[in-house]
Amino acid sequence: MITPVLPTYARTDLEFERGEGPYLMTAGGERYLDFGAGIAVNAFGHAHPALIAALTDQAGKVWHTSNIYRIPGQEQLARRLVGATFADTVFFTNSGAEALECAIKMARKYHAAGGAPERYELITMEGAFHGRTLATIAAGGQRKYLEGFGPAMPGFPQVPFGDLKALKAAIGPATAGILIEPIQGEGGIRVLPFEDMRRIRAICDEAGILLVLDEVQTGIGRTGKLFAHELSGIAPDIMAIAKALGGGFPVGACLASEVAARGMTAGTHASTFGGNPLAMAVAGAAMELALNEDFLPHVRMLGLKLRQKLAMLADRFPRIVETVRGEGLMIGIKCRVPNTDLVAAAREQKLLTVGAGDNVVRLLPPLIIEESHLDEAMEKLEAACGALDAGLDASATAAGTKP
Ligand SMILES: *Cc1c(COP(=O)(O)O)cnc(C)c1O
Repeated sequence: MITPVLPTYARTDLEFERGEGPYLMTAGGERYLDFGAGIAVNAFGHAHPALIAALTDQAGKVWHTSNIYRIPGQEQLARRLVGATFADTVFFTNSGAEALECAIKMARKYHAAGGAPERYELITMEGAFHGRTLATIAAGGQRKYLEGFGPAMPGFPQVPFGDLKALKAAIGPATAGILIEPIQGEGGIRVLPFEDMRRIRAICDEAGILLVLDEVQTGIGRTGKLFAHELSGIAPDIMAIAKALGGGFPVGACLASEVAARGMTAGTHASTFGGNPLAMAVAGAAMELALNEDFLPHVRMLGLKLRQKLAMLADRFPRIVETVRGEGLMIGIKCRVPNTDLVAAAREQKLLTVGAGDNVVRLLPPLIIEESHLDEAMEKLEAACGALDAGLDASATAAGTKP
C-alpha cells in the first residue's frame, strides 16, 4: 500500500527533533555530527540565533503580500547580492530548480530580445545536476531522471565533462550559452579546473553567447569564496543560487548582469512565493553572516585542515579511500567500496554525510564549524573506515574458506 507521503525518496530511517550548530538530535537524545548540512543548505548550522531572530521578528509582522507590491526585504537582499557579486539584478525564487528555470528563460530571452530567437540552446556537461523540473532534468541530461517523463525538453545538448574541444564544437547557430556547475555536486564533487573555467569564459565571449553558472550548491561560501567562480577569477553572465542562501529556509535566486537580463521586462517572469518576506528576512540575515570579513577565511582555513586530515585517512585506508577532492568545505571522498557503505558506516558512528555520483561521499559541513568538529568528524570517519576495512578482511577470509 502506498504511503501517505509519496514514496519518491529512499529515506534513511532516522528522524531528528532538534538541532544545534553542527549537531542534530533525535527524540531519543542521540547526537549526530551533521557533515551533510541538509545537502549544503545549513551553512550556518542548526538553530542559529541570528536566523531565528530574523525569522521570528518577520513572522510577527507580515508573511506574504505577493509581488503585486514592493517587498523591502527583496530590495535590501538584492542590493546586498549585487554589491557582493558580478550581478546587477536579482530574481528571487523558492528553490534551486526555479532559479535555474529563470536562468534558462533569461538566456533564451536575451537572444530573442537581441533579434536571435533561434538561439535557445544551452550546452551542458555530462554528470550535471540542475534540479527536477522538466527543463532542469533535460538540462542535467541524466537518463535516470528523464526516464518515463515523456520527451525531454529540447535545447540542452550535452558534452563530456571537461571536454572543451567538444564544447567548442557543439556551439552553433542555435546556441544561447553554456550552463555548468563550477564544481559538480551531485555528479561527485568534480571540479572544473580553473584554467578551463577561464577558457570557457573566453569561448563564450568569442561566440557571443552567455555563460550561465549553476552555483546552487557551490554558492554562499561553500568553497571558501562567496561563489566558486571567483576561484578562477572569472564572472558569469547569469548565475542560479539557492541551497545555503536561506540557511535552511527555502529560497533561491537568479543573478544576472544588466546586459544578460535585457529581455526580462515586466510580465516576462513571475512567482507567487518568490522573494516572500519571510524568506527575505532569513536570507538577509544569512547573507550578513556570510559577508562578515572573518567568515570566508575561516572556511578556507578549515577546508585546508580537513583536506590534510583526509589525506592521512586515505593513506591509512587505501582499500576504502581512492582519492579526496573538492574546494573549501565542499569535499568528496571517492571510495573503493560502495559509497553507500561508507555513508552507512559513518552514520553508525553518528556522523552524517551525503552520497553523490561517481561513487563519492560528500562532506558538506556547516561552514560555522570549529577545528574541534573536524577532529570529531575524523575520529568518526577513522572508525567507519576501520570497520569497513575489517569487513573486507572478514569477507576475504570467508571467501577463502569456502569449500
Ligand atoms: C540542489 C541543486 C539543484 C536543485 O535545487 P532544488 O532546490 O532541489 O530545486 C540545482 N543545481 C545544483 C547544482 C544543486 O546542487
